[in-house]
Amino acid sequence: MGSMPRVAVVGGSLGGLTAALLLRDLGCEVSVYERSREELEAKGAGIAVLAATWRYPVQRLGVPADEFSARTSWVRFLEADGSTAFEEQRLYHLSSWNAVYRVLLQGFGRENYHLASEVSSFVDDGAQVTINFTDGRTDVVDLLVCADGIASEARQTLLPEVTSAYAGYIAWRGVIPESELTPATFDALHESLTYQVMDHSHILVYPIPGLAGEVEPGHRLMNIVWYRNVSPEDFESFLTDVNGDVRSVSIPPGLVNERDLAEMRADAKALLAPQLAEVVTGIKEPFLQVVYDIEVPRMAFGRVCIIGDAAFACRPHAAAGTAKAAEDGWILAEEIAAADGDVLKALAAWEVRQLALGRSLLERTRDIGYRSQVAGTFKAGDPDLVFGLYAPGN
Ligand SMILES: Cc1cc2nc3c(=O)[nH]c(=O)nc-3n(C[C@H](O)[C@H](O)[C@H](O)COP(=O)(O)OP(=O)(O)OC[C@H]3O[C@@H](n4cnc5c(N)ncnc54)[C@H](O)[C@@H]3O)c2cc1C
Repeated sequence: MGSMPRVAVVGGSLGGLTAALLLRDLGCEVSVYERSREELEAKGAGIAVLAATWRYPVQRLGVPADEFSARTSWVRFLEADGSTAFEEQRLYHLSSWNAVYRVLLQGFGRENYHLASEVSSFVDDGAQVTINFTDGRTDVVDLLVCADGIASEARQTLLPEVTSAYAGYIAWRGVIPESELTPATFDALHESLTYQVMDHSHILVYPIPGLAGEVEPGHRLMNIVWYRNVSPEDFESFLTDVNGDVRSVSIPPGLVNERDLAEMRADAKALLAPQLAEVVTGIKEPFLQVVYDIEVPRMAFGRVCIIGDAAFACRPHAAAGTAKAAEDGWILAEEIAAADGDVLKALAAWEVRQLALGRSLLERTRDIGYRSQVAGTFKAGDPDLVFGLYAPGN
């Protein structure tokens, strides 16, 4: 067996951690560099977790998915009057960014997980990559994996011509403890992933683990994702937070301006099924995320690669963002092993596979978004809405 490369991973979120763990399992010496000063506990957002996301925790760390996710057995579409338009039995694992992060970080350990480490630039001289940090530190590695997310500076450096395309809508998000719901609403929602399709809009509501990881029904959080169109002309004022700062990717909990919050809550009462309106209007600090499409023509550049949202950022309708980030890591490890540690050979083979995956997911999620938010042809129970990374249900 050839010697394994020394690796640095920039970005210590779900994509970066999964890649780091897999490459370390191969025998690589791996350091993770994360810009945040504190462990990334603050993000309370729910995520549906597909197999690729929970594969590492389950297969390599031996942590059952039920320990870090809520399980729902029904998919339901409600009408505005609260009646059921469509329902089917389907198992989903629904978790939160925090819950998955905690398991992965515990698996990786903190020794080579470096917080407060913001990468400012890197130079690939063909034989090695030198990484420069904003505080003046440097590191030299054989392979640099950039998992620095949707606003990736690595992507902007490597592919300055690639821009993010605003999809025309945002997602309202937020959570409320299940214990704060009326018994009727809890009963209606706690076993299912619940949708409502509206005119040029749709909402998903589902349970996720509590902030301390609680997975028992009644002790979890109920999470929302409500897609609403915001015209490009209104975009800047909509994304102005309480401090007057214009945001581009998200407005965190507590910082959304009062005008937009009040309008969203009033619309919730007018448009949503009563059970869903109760959840949405009960959320104390809703936040929002902007939906973008980002497509890249390349993912490998000599000894540097971009993975996860740093490469393709896809609309969330397949619930496959973290699964794609994780899969980029699984296939990278597979190709490094197949190339016996030869980084250039491995990245060339890896890029072909991951470009194909990114393109197909982008196309699928763009189509779902178009049908829901633009064409208005999105229907309750549409089989294309089944979550999946490679295809609906897969
Ligand atoms: C509305 C919405 C709903 C979603 N729902 C789901 C869902 O149900 N299921 C799902 O799987 N996915 C979902 N996603 C997508 C998912 O959130 C992303 O795909 C996923 O977080 C990408 O992971 P990542 O590791 O690539 O990047 P990120 O999680 O964005 O992490 C990037 C990390 O890099 C760090 N960083 C950035 N720059 C630097 C630097 N210069 N130096 C050091 N560190 C740096 C950041 O601090 C951050 O920790 C959703 C997204 C949205 C917007």
